[in-house]
Amino acid sequence: MMTEKKKVCMICGKPSETSICESCKAHIQGEAAGEKQKAEKQVLVGSEVEKDRRVKSQMEKKEK
Ligand SMILES: [Zn+2]
Repeated sequence: MMTEKKKVCMICGKPSETSICESCKAHIQGEAAGEKQKAEKQVLVGSEVEKDRRVKSQMEKKEK
């Protein structure tokens, strides 16, 4: 009895040389990139607020 396992995609179950086929990998990476963009946007907003605070505190120092 052959116990050889067929390599299939763990996401869609289609025959694949890798554990995740190219189309599923692209889909997952696309989602990950979308999440990353969201996170980067939030970080950017946060850093802009921080920058604004720093600029204001520097201006206050100069005035004194
Ligand atoms: Zn797949």
